[in-house]
Amino acid sequence: MSLVDHPAFLQLKPWLEAQEKKRDGGIWRIELLNNVTQSIRSLALGVQQPCVKCGDLIYPFRWREAKGQRGAKIAKNIYYGATCKEMPDIATVTHWQALVNNPNATIQQLKEALLNAAKSYKTCGKGKAASIEYGAIAKALGKT
Ligand SMILES: [Zn+2]
Repeated sequence: MSLVDHPAFLQLKPWLEAQEKKRDGGIWRIELLNNVTQSIRSLALGVQQPCVKCGDLIYPFRWREAKGQRGAKIAKNIYYGATCKEMPDIATVTHWQALVNNPNATIQQLKEALLNAAKSYKTCGKGKAASIEYGAIAKALGKT
């Protein structure tokens, strides 16, 4: 199912922007404008739909992180991603950080944490199905 067919799309539509990634030519990325109300932001973050590649249910609206001072990650803006996340989730990262900072953690514990994360880590990433989805949204927003 495309975001275009999602019941929330009509409400979100005025707040979505299709940006052409010039470097890649004709490939779009979909951004939620920063000046949205809290209710629109909550609506976007609550949207669930199947990953366009594997069909698993995902939350496609995500915070994009930027590097702040001393490399700290700060939430920057919300974008739309049509497939499973490429990055490990925050719970996994927090667990890794706790292990790395724990002087009593064993190499075995670190190995297990990495292997468990690798098992659950999906890389649907970009690809043709995602490009088609971004194109469909860009078209619905009056681009192309
Ligand atoms: Zn997927």
